[in-house]
Amino acid sequence: MYNLVVFGAPGSGKGTQSARLIDEYGLYHISTGELLRDHIARDTELGRVANEYISQGHLIPDDLMVDILEHTLDENPETANGVIFDGFPRTIPQAKALKDMLARRGSKVDAVVGLEVADEELIDRLLKRGQESGRADDNLDTITERLKVYNNQTAPLRDYYVGEGKYHGIKGSGPIDDIFDDIRKALASARENDK
Ligand code: AMP
Repeated sequence: MYNLVVFGAPGSGKGTQSARLIDEYGLYHISTGELLRDHIARDTELGRVANEYISQGHLIPDDLMVDILEHTLDENPETANGVIFDGFPRTIPQAKALKDMLARRGSKVDAVVGLEVADEELIDRLLKRGQESGRADDNLDTITERLKVYNNQTAPLRDYYVGEGKYHGIKGSGPIDDIFDDIRKALASARENDK
């Protein structure tokens, strides 16, 4: 069992690197952003609530987000074999809730991969992605707000996980393959140290 948190600002490459990690380690992937976008596409009640926040570049309230995550774990028993958490946690209360949730299941966060990319590059990438993907929150106003929210509410998680001895900072710019190699090396050495 191996639980991995992929952490980073919007546009840092969490989705891209998570896809590779799934291929490599065969873990269950939970992207809270994708999960919410799926609800919005299906126009569920949750989707309508989530859209209010997402379109403003704000975070979904912690209680609601934690509930959604707990349901996802319960409804997918294969998550007991290990999960890549992509986009969760995004606040300290979410990190604490994740710790409790996993502890109740006899499990824990094993490692956190933090993709570190400069703000100017993030903005460039998100604007490009907006042109290609049509994601409604990839426009300059929402991007600026999302980066502000990230710096205020999510970035403090770095120190939280450094304190837990789980944080592995990875330079998230440059060729995708090189970034993935760095992640693989960091996780391999973390696993060696855990033995
Ligand atoms: P993402 O695809 O990870 O960039 O997420 C897109 C949007 O979904 C974010 O800007 C938030 O509005 C919302 N969201 C995703 N994950 C979370 C989370 N863990 N907590 C709160 N809001 C979230």
